[in-house]
Amino acid sequence: MNYVTRKDFLRWSVMGSVGLYLNSCHTKPTKENIQSENVIINDTSQRSTDLSPDVTFYKRSDPEYEKLRTGFNKRIQKFPLIIAQCKSSQDISVAVKYAQKNNLAVSVKSGGHCFEGFSSNNDGLVIDLSLMNTIESIDEHTVKVGPGCTLAQLNDHLLPQNKIIPAGSCGGVGIGGLTLGGGYGLFSRKYGLTCDSLLDITFIDGNGNILTGSQEKDLLWACRGGENGNFGIVSEMIFKTYDTPAAFRSHRFKSHKADAAHVEKMLEKWFEVTAELPLSCFSAFVLNNKTVYILLTDFEHHEETVEAFKTSLGPLTDTIQIGKPQPLEQALKVFRGKSAPLFFKNSSAGLYENYETIRPFIKEVISKVIETPGMIYQINTLGGNIQQPEFEKTSAYPHRALPYLSELQTYWEVASRSKYYETKFEEVQSIFKANNITAQYRNYPDIQFNDWEKSYYGKSYERLQQIKTKYDPHNIFRYEQSVRSNV
Ligand SMILES: Cc1cc2nc3c(=O)[nH]c(=O)nc-3n(C[C@H](O)[C@H](O)[C@H](O)COP(=O)(O)OP(=O)(O)OC[C@H]3O[C@@H](n4cnc5c(N)ncnc54)[C@H](O)[C@@H]3O)c2cc1C
Repeated sequence: MNYVTRKDFLRWSVMGSVGLYLNSCHTKPTKENIQSENVIINDTSQRSTDLSPDVTFYKRSDPEYEKLRTGFNKRIQKFPLIIAQCKSSQDISVAVKYAQKNNLAVSVKSGGHCFEGFSSNNDGLVIDLSLMNTIESIDEHTVKVGPGCTLAQLNDHLLPQNKIIPAGSCGGVGIGGLTLGGGYGLFSRKYGLTCDSLLDITFIDGNGNILTGSQEKDLLWACRGGENGNFGIVSEMIFKTYDTPAAFRSHRFKSHKADAAHVEKMLEKWFEVTAELPLSCFSAFVLNNKTVYILLTDFEHHEETVEAFKTSLGPLTDTIQIGKPQPLEQALKVFRGKSAPLFFKNSSAGLYENYETIRPFIKEVISKVIETPGMIYQINTLGGNIQQPEFEKTSAYPHRALPYLSELQTYWEVASRSKYYETKFEEVQSIFKANNITAQYRNYPDIQFNDWEKSYYGKSYERLQQIKTKYDPHNIFRYEQSVRSNV
């Protein structure tokens, strides 16, 4: 049952995010036009075609189609002509060549959690990687992971071996999409973004060539924050792993029935107290209607940070919960979130340098969120080792200098509420736009961002365009906000 309570919102929003606006609800195809499409693609009626022993092509009339076409965001409904479910790099190569021959746009789907549904399309081909979810240890500190592996599967495999990859925590999110857009989580301030632990890739380009990151350095650079279905498909990922910490603590500070002035005061204090956060800590500031919820986590033991939070925020909060040390496996379960699809519109609401970035206008944002039940405004701490110069050099992720990532979220329960929330959402986003908040996180896309190229990719965009030209010259990988060739 997809019923979202305020408690869910709070739990969710701790590490969650999501969002697109494209109200392009495509009409479900009729039987007639399915048949006419068969004329164009006449070999898709076979499950396992003779093209490859493992790739399976599903068309609209197949019973599996409906489940496979569905993404995590129920607000976005798309209807690809064909879904190719692949089990290997060779399968993907076959599917790409097939799309090229039949002039079909290709979308790539790993975990299907893209806020804006960019992992699907209307009338094109979707390459589904959900079965490519194996995890294989190479040595004590290196692991090979399929892009379709979810974060829950990854943690279930790695944690019993006392290993982690610094990624997000929501169980259903795919490691494929998360890593290729950057990827942050509870361990990022110490170990960097998820893409900073990516050592190598296997990659299928727009001509169906199977390549590796160790041979194609530009591709590996792009896959660290700049390759969400822009010019090819990552079929294997090799990651560096880290040892799990001995214990994990999470602390919560809450203020109920807060008015805008109170929220503003708390936010300013929160920015102050997080400015010098130890690397092992993560914090999130969450405003959900009139409730402020602050999370502080730590996988070492920085008593002085907890004390600083208590001193600074204690007088402004109603309840403080100081967590006991827990084994990591147990502690992370709280952050897994829901796995069933939801209606939502979520997106990045800017990356900030500090409180001064938003001080002039934030009260207006806070007031709007307070008067809109179902809307959440959240800011997460990045910074720390994410800012290491070495990571800056070796990755396309462009926003390392900005240590705060904000997200605007809205959740609802029935399709008929979509228009209302989309409108409310855009009202808040327009405040950020009017105040020149432009740096945005690619993994939290918004179809309404104007200058999305620079917003997501900043100074990396031109190099990404060259890579697009080289590896996908016919632009078969394309969606509303995909990198465009510069020739
Ligand atoms: C509930 C929830 C919680 C989240 N929590 C976090 C978090 O803690 N930290 C964080 O950083 N982000 C978080 N995100 C955002 C998340 O990183 C993005 O939504 C991510 O793109 C999802 O990846 P996916 O594989 O599940 O999605 P998909 O929809 O399958 O893919 C997302 C994008 O990546 C492309 N892509 C996917 N796989 C490949 C591939 N193998 N090769 C090439 N392109 C590919 C797709 O084409 C699409 O453009 C969260 C999202 C949700 C919905």
